[in-house]
Amino acid sequence: MLHNKDILVAGGGVAGLMAAMSFASIGYDVICVDPSPPIVEQNDMRADLRSTAFLMPAVEMMRQIGLWDRLAPHAAELRVMRLCDAGGVENEIREQVDFTATEIGHERFGWNIPNRALRQTMIAHAETFPTLDLRMGRAVRDLLPRTGAARVTLDDGTRIEAKLVIAADGRDSLIRELLDIPVRTTRYGQKGIVFAVRHALPHNGVSTELHRTGGPFTLVPLPDQDGVHRSAVVWMDTGPNIAELMKLDDAPFSAAATERSCGILGPLQIEGARGCWPIISQQASALTGPRTALIAEAAHVMPPIGAQGLNISLADIRALLDAAGRHGLGSEAMLDDYNRARRHDITLRERGVELLNRAALTEVQPLRDLRRAGLHLIGTLGPVRAAALRRGMGLA
Ligand SMILES: Cc1cc2nc3c(=O)[nH]c(=O)nc-3n(C[C@H](O)[C@H](O)[C@H](O)COP(=O)(O)OP(=O)(O)OC[C@H]3O[C@@H](n4cnc5c(N)ncnc54)[C@H](O)[C@@H]3O)c2cc1C
Repeated sequence: MLHNKDILVAGGGVAGLMAAMSFASIGYDVICVDPSPPIVEQNDMRADLRSTAFLMPAVEMMRQIGLWDRLAPHAAELRVMRLCDAGGVENEIREQVDFTATEIGHERFGWNIPNRALRQTMIAHAETFPTLDLRMGRAVRDLLPRTGAARVTLDDGTRIEAKLVIAADGRDSLIRELLDIPVRTTRYGQKGIVFAVRHALPHNGVSTELHRTGGPFTLVPLPDQDGVHRSAVVWMDTGPNIAELMKLDDAPFSAAATERSCGILGPLQIEGARGCWPIISQQASALTGPRTALIAEAAHVMPPIGAQGLNISLADIRALLDAAGRHGLGSEAMLDDYNRARRHDITLRERGVELLNRAALTEVQPLRDLRRAGLHLIGTLGPVRAAALRRGMGLA
């Protein structure tokens, strides 16, 4: 049997669920499919141990679909973004720049939420939309674009005809492959370990990115639990160094993390499991195909620096909503509009993040000193700094 829908969203990750709810909230008939089960236990291999820092425009989007109130109890406020250089001979902070949200007239930059709580809460909220059919545990298997609609086959044989297919099926997107859209991938020889830590000192809403060699070590606030201070960590380094760190038991791993953090929050104690991610940049050569729009990591992947990844993905969804308001759903005009709106911004942000990552990677002392000088310069240039902040937050 053939089911007719306005929109099929392939992928129920954070981006796919946001897209599905945003379109369903304005009356579109949407189906969202994802092969992973709705609840994944913390010690399950498939558990997502990352956290996501949402900047304020993203929070505003979540408010509009009534999601924010459910998420707020899991969120920690981000008031200060601190960049530190510890690239000298000794492992100590030699340059520090603080960016505060109040500089650009905001109380906070955004909020940080653990991905597991995020996904579970989003799924529970998605189930309340009458025009959203959520099929967890089901994958897209095939796609056949036709003139008025695309025909999609799921792995249980269900066939769906949709005016628009939104590919939010991640960095290895099957939809992208079925449409023969090539990708350009840059590998940096880096990996990132993600984990949560308890610590003695409060973070006071400060997110800290520490640069030494091999990549940044980033501490992002999590809410206190039973009076215990907690943060999420992304520790980026070269592949071989990360492999050695992953072999360590919790106690020596916690000691190594404390040392790498220059002790800024006191001794760190790892909580729960560690996840390991390859760090890449990837850009699809086209953001659209017939009756199809690629969003989020199906379209662009970047190193986790400056909380850009998912926040850029939410800008994709805003652009799709705008384009759907101006043109027929899934029409060539709508997809061209989407492509025009997003292409330039994605390329610009990718280049910025890539530059920061290459600066973070450097092993060579004179280049490490240059990075320190660059940081110092950013810290002292008032108007440039405010413009960079507004742009980083997605406000300009
Ligand atoms: C270590 C790390 C830290 C990060 N921190 C931040 C941060 O602080 N702030 C930020 O903005 N961004 C951050 N990012 C980036 C952010 O996590 C990603 O941009 C975001 O998770 C991408 O979401 P997505 O929905 O595109 O992909 P995914 O989360 O990978 O979701 C894709 C979904 O598609 C499903 N799928 C796969 N194949 C199929 C199929 N055939 N049919 C249907 N569904 C399918 C998968 O099961 C999956 O659920 C970070 C990234 C990393 C690696």
